[in-house]
Amino acid sequence: MSWTERQRLMLREMGLQVWSPAAEEAPLAAPVPPPAVAVPAPTVQPQRQAVTGPVATMDWDTLRVTVAGCQACTLCSSRRNTVFGVGNPNAHWMIVGEAPGEQEDLKGEPFVGPAGQLLDNMLRALQLTRSEAEPERQVFIANTLKCRPPRNRNPEPAELAQCEPYLMRQIELVQPKIILAMGRFAVQSLLRSSEPIGRLRGRVHQYQGVPLVVTYHPAYLLRNPSDKARAWDDLCLALERLRVAPVRGGDPGAGAA
Ligand code: URA
Repeated sequence: MSWTERQRLMLREMGLQVWSPAAEEAPLAAPVPPPAVAVPAPTVQPQRQAVTGPVATMDWDTLRVTVAGCQACTLCSSRRNTVFGVGNPNAHWMIVGEAPGEQEDLKGEPFVGPAGQLLDNMLRALQLTRSEAEPERQVFIANTLKCRPPRNRNPEPAELAQCEPYLMRQIELVQPKIILAMGRFAVQSLLRSSEPIGRLRGRVHQYQGVPLVVTYHPAYLLRNPSDKARAWDDLCLALERLRVAPVRGGDPGAGAA
């Protein structure tokens, strides 16, 4: 997506960073005095702890069975199905959303409602899929919560904390080469940041050595279609990051899925 200089300045005034191949390395040139709201420098994220407790050593099948029987919080009493995730456990891409909604709860699969259709369309445009394909083209999609919050209310901190080891273990086992964190709850879980998406997107973060790109949640994009172009830029940034550094964590010996 190409922006005019005027649009770039306007977006920067709004606290948004516009990605272009060169922009990740060098901040936008500023021919006018600095904006009132500066684009934040990359933040140093607090070091994440590895998964602890019994979940830490679970293999994929055990983890799936454990999630299916989880009663760690009250969401288990209202769910119809747990929603473990979908895709190839060796996928190069991992997408992390928020929590199952009504249709996901019914089907036991993430992102099957309208937001999921938008997500699938965006993925298709990058030749990515949740269906069977070679790992380079496949995504694994998971949520921060594996059970639907009643009436689609926001996840509560205690629910996120209980469910977090499952997501962390999923990431450890999938060993994705890139993570897309969609929406504020995914960002809060993975980056421990409550900064707005608009301030975190447009640059590459790290989660346990895995490059992570922040973007808008597809449900938000359905309500705010004018931000779709930015979400597209974020996906392109993730793709570019994979092309530039295809090996996990930049270590040529690591990360074979
Ligand atoms: N929104 C999410 O974040 N996840 C889903 O699975 C569905 C909607």
